[in-house]
Amino acid sequence: TEKYDAGLEKSRTSFSERLNALFANFRSVDEDFFDDLEEMLIEADVGFQTAVALTDALREEVKLKNAKKPEAVAQVIVEKLVDLYGEAGADEDNSLHYAQGEPTVFLFVGVNGAGKTTTIGKLAHQLQAAGKSVLLAAGDTFRAGAIEQLQEWGRRDGVPVVASAAGADPASVVFDAVKQAKQDQVDVLLVDTAGRLQNKVNLMKELDKIKRVIVRELPNAPQEVLLVLDATTGQNALSQAKQFKQTTDISGIVLTKLDGTGKGGIVLAIRNELHVPVKLAGLGEGMDDLQVFDPTKFAYGLFK
Ligand code: GDP
Repeated sequence: TEKYDAGLEKSRTSFSERLNALFANFRSVDEDFFDDLEEMLIEADVGFQTAVALTDALREEVKLKNAKKPEAVAQVIVEKLVDLYGEAGADEDNSLHYAQGEPTVFLFVGVNGAGKTTTIGKLAHQLQAAGKSVLLAAGDTFRAGAIEQLQEWGRRDGVPVVASAAGADPASVVFDAVKQAKQDQVDVLLVDTAGRLQNKVNLMKELDKIKRVIVRELPNAPQEVLLVLDATTGQNALSQAKQFKQTTDISGIVLTKLDGTGKGGIVLAIRNELHVPVKLAGLGEGMDDLQVFDPTKFAYGLFK
């Protein structure tokens, strides 16, 4: 809870500022009020459809509770938002799936700068701390520096990294990594990839080839294909997610830099419009600032 509280401070502050501004001109709970509320939710990046649906639910609730005074109305709104967030996430599978008795493979996809390498570094650290053996594969052979950056995380975490020279075929790096993971009976293999969304056909081919190489050696893998999205890019992250979803099967989303944005509402938009669960949340730059996504804690961090 502390991590969520600290990491979501910006979102929470900006939400309460917006809410205060809304109540600064409060006259009564009329349609103008709900229009402004809807506007506020859109500005918090919950997405248009979601803002409309939330406003409907909040209108009902305010009526049901017969709230009239601003403090009472504000309380009803906050409580209901927390409920809706938690409730919507209750039947969602936020957990990461691991293989039994063979190496687990997680594939990380996403555009440059989204936080793939950092997420892999943090997760490797946490898995090791939990007693699992980890191997990293530097499958982003395209971006200058990506290989070195992953190797740096490997050194920091004390985790081996399979890499080859820049410009090499990523599938061949992944092939070597999967072989090594099997041979060394590694628990979890984390695979970095290049995210060139501007060339969707190539990206699709590259990811398909990587998956084929993995499946040939480990028929049940990859257990997760995780799309890494930068929360600070707001609605842009949502449209990226839609494009990636068309390109490859995604099992979950990692939402990074939630600490750096006042627009944590993007989580709701992703969930409601993409139907892909958010599985991990990046709440800062430290090793422990990667958390399993918890809808209820998230809602509290955001609104309370
Ligand atoms: P990649 O190109 O997708 O591999 O992205 P990187 O892992 O290199 O991350 C890009 C930048 O975002 C780096 O400066 C990271 O330190 C930063 N970053 C990643 N995750 C988080 C996060 O959860 N919070 C903050 N504040 N920064 C992050």
